[in-house]
Amino acid sequence: MEVATSISRLRELIRDARRRKLSIGCVPTMGALHCGHGALIERARAECGLVVVTIFVNPIQFDRKDDYEQYARDFEADSAFCRQRGVDVLFAPSEAEMYPQPARTFVEAPGLGDRLCGAFRPGHFRGVATVVAKLFNIVQPDVAYFGEKDAQQLAIIRQMAADLNFPVSIAAVPTVREEDGLAVSSRNRRLSAEQRRAAPVLFRALCEGRRLIAGGERDASKVKTAICRVLAAEPAIRLEYAEIVDSHFKPVHHIESDVRILAAAWIGSTRLIDNLAAPVGDR
Ligand code: AMP
Repeated sequence: MEVATSISRLRELIRDARRRKLSIGCVPTMGALHCGHGALIERARAECGLVVVTIFVNPIQFDRKDDYEQYARDFEADSAFCRQRGVDVLFAPSEAEMYPQPARTFVEAPGLGDRLCGAFRPGHFRGVATVVAKLFNIVQPDVAYFGEKDAQQLAIIRQMAADLNFPVSIAAVPTVREEDGLAVSSRNRRLSAEQRRAAPVLFRALCEGRRLIAGGERDASKVKTAICRVLAAEPAIRLEYAEIVDSHFKPVHHIESDVRILAAAWIGSTRLIDNLAAPVGDR
């Protein structure tokens, strides 16, 4: 595995791989790698000739300075993690390499990017879309791998790749969960033992919503009330939003076809997100 920290070196490696007719798979991450990232890497390794993992904690997607500063960083562990999984190239640029001057050109995702998490994290998806566009231009992958864990991010990136004609296909990888259902996340490391015990209630609440929908409930507000009821059993958790969206990520009132339930919640100063696909039942 080669670690590239400069864009010029990364481009050389990509040119060489292209000469060797290798397909290129890219897994963009912010590091603090865990088995969720591992699932993306394994899929890329199975499907592509050259696997590039990128690690960049992107400052312009953080709406809170403390969240950016506290974000877990452990390059040695991350690079060992990638090496063990057969990654070919680890691209880990500095902030100065990615933003040699303050960015003045951005990729916006109006509509989709302003709802749900976007409503609570102003500028977040603009930062995500901008850095992913930059990474697509730098790595020029054939396939880029993203987790369903960040379902709204995945939808925005699919939209961006289509709207801006990036010659890349976007592959979605199912959410990897702990045994108790909690979605694996770098932010879970910040939870105290007591908070960690409480955290899976978010998944249980989404499961209750999915169960009701599969059982024939069509009133989204009733499903949301049931989700809130499950969450209320755990005083340590504070719901930010729970929403039920259609395949275009538009909130629905009446559930007519398969939907997705998304939620964000706070435990102390840690913000967790999760989502579940909720197919309508036969009734
Ligand atoms: P991050 O480093 O948190 O920006 O995540 C990098 C990529 O890994 C994103 O595409 C995430 O959706 C994905 N990812 C993070 N956690 C998980 C998980 N538990 N299961 C599947 N994919 C994940």
